[in-house]
Amino acid sequence: MRLVVDLNRCQGYAQCAFLAPEVFAMHGDEALLYDPNPVADGEADGELRGNVTRAVAACPVRAILLELADGHAGDGPGGAS
Ligand code: SF4
Repeated sequence: MRLVVDLNRCQGYAQCAFLAPEVFAMHGDEALLYDPNPVADGEADGELRGNVTRAVAACPVRAILLELADGHAGDGPGGAS
């Protein structure tokens, strides 16, 4: 799975860090750090995907773009920007 966060759009609301702390972390008040290529395997796969998917959906400014390895892509409801 591959992630891109539009840091120009990100407002540091930290919803993603709350929902998927394996991937997203806040650094200071507003700077977001994230793993652009989180590796999910075995049992953790579903949980990690679920957390990341929820984080994508929860981002108030839809700054997170998610590409799953199977080619399915989504960036939350709407998609187009
Ligand atoms: S939820 Fe969206 S706006 Fe908030 S820190 Fe994550 S990417 Fe940025």
